[in-house]
Amino acid sequence: MSIEKSLTAFNEAKEVIPGGVDSPVRAFKSVGGTPIFIAKGEGAHLVDIDGNRYVDFVQSWGPLIFGHGDKTIETAVIEAVKDGLSFGAPTEVETELAKEIATLFDNIDKIRFVSSGTEAVMSAIRLARGFTGRDDIVKFTGCYHGHSDSLLVEAGSGMATFGTPSSPGVPADLTKHTLLATYNDIESVKQCFENSKDIACVIIEPIAGNMGLVPADEAFLEELETLCHDNGALLIFDEVMSGFRASLKGAQGHTTVVPDIITFGKVIGGGMPVGAFAARAEIMNVLSPDGPVYQAGTLSGNPIAMHAGLASLGQLKADKELYDGLERLAKRLVLGLQEAANAEGIRLQVDVRGSMFGFFFNDNPVKNFDDALASDTALFASFHQKMLAEGVYFACSQFETGFICAAMDEAMIDDVIATSKKVFAEIA
Ligand SMILES: *Cc1c(COP(=O)(O)O)cnc(C)c1O
Repeated sequence: MSIEKSLTAFNEAKEVIPGGVDSPVRAFKSVGGTPIFIAKGEGAHLVDIDGNRYVDFVQSWGPLIFGHGDKTIETAVIEAVKDGLSFGAPTEVETELAKEIATLFDNIDKIRFVSSGTEAVMSAIRLARGFTGRDDIVKFTGCYHGHSDSLLVEAGSGMATFGTPSSPGVPADLTKHTLLATYNDIESVKQCFENSKDIACVIIEPIAGNMGLVPADEAFLEELETLCHDNGALLIFDEVMSGFRASLKGAQGHTTVVPDIITFGKVIGGGMPVGAFAARAEIMNVLSPDGPVYQAGTLSGNPIAMHAGLASLGQLKADKELYDGLERLAKRLVLGLQEAANAEGIRLQVDVRGSMFGFFFNDNPVKNFDDALASDTALFASFHQKMLAEGVYFACSQFETGFICAAMDEAMIDDVIATSKKVFAEIA
């Protein structure tokens, strides 16, 4: 397949946009090659500007659980646009979406909408600090919570891909309040609580998706909950990726642990830029204008985005079989890939949570970021390049999660597995 037009477009983009992209992982740096420029999406597929078609396991990095061009969401957006793009004043659709979400969760009374996952997490951290009157926070290496200053410490995702522990431009004074712990290792969290009596919150991706897919163990999460409660710290589940992806209730469909604050993004906007953070009333009431903790946004609760989110959530709630179906496809895919790899003497570590899937080129189980980093990224890069050339679009890094969408079916998955057999044989 020819990607001539993408090559030209990338060179042109690099002249006026740093690295040619508006978010670093898109540049394909960790897998080599040229990023594909997209012309359009159709259901499970992407079409690039050279006219090539790809099965898309990225789905805009998670949001598009119904695939590209879902008619219900498209119609909701088009109808909303006719009434105006933005008002900077309250609209009823915000309340509607808030209610839809609050009724799903016992631990959510109130929710506030923002415009990205980064903004949601940044605001949630401020809220936790304001509520507890404490400054320190605990995060886990390999978890990514957006690019705000105090969270850009050994972050996963693009950061891990480039092997940068932290970013220039972030003052050390801001990160000195961020304590780092090891994922799935409760002793490391205990250590943090011993080192500081000023911990406002522990933030975790309960199903980590930004170091590849690494779910937290149930026992670990339970101990984490107890540790937070015993020490007067809030537990924040960052569900920007796993929310409405791992199940209708995100990670809470897989664990009995109840977080104090939840952050959302990605699926919640149905493909439009939306984030949100939510908690019980006691916590949310300290937010401005009810309380003293300031947080605001010109385009927050944007009506077009709210209608897209509402149309998305309505469908997620209506189809009781949806998540089971997506999970069956995800399992079919990773087990098929694993078998194909094994046949060529390549070992894959695979996992699935709802519509999220992951596979590591790794001989050993992956429980934390160090385990993930031990993966064979060179082999992953070869696999990625060859699959792409065969029309299969996987995330362009070993440290990302894959997504199944509702527009996929068994035949599509089986075709991808058949392609992978050929590719594994070539790279083994
Ligand atoms: C994607 C992501 C974010 C950041 O969201 P943006 O919309 O990219 O700002 C934060 N936390 C998690 C867990 C994510 O996956």
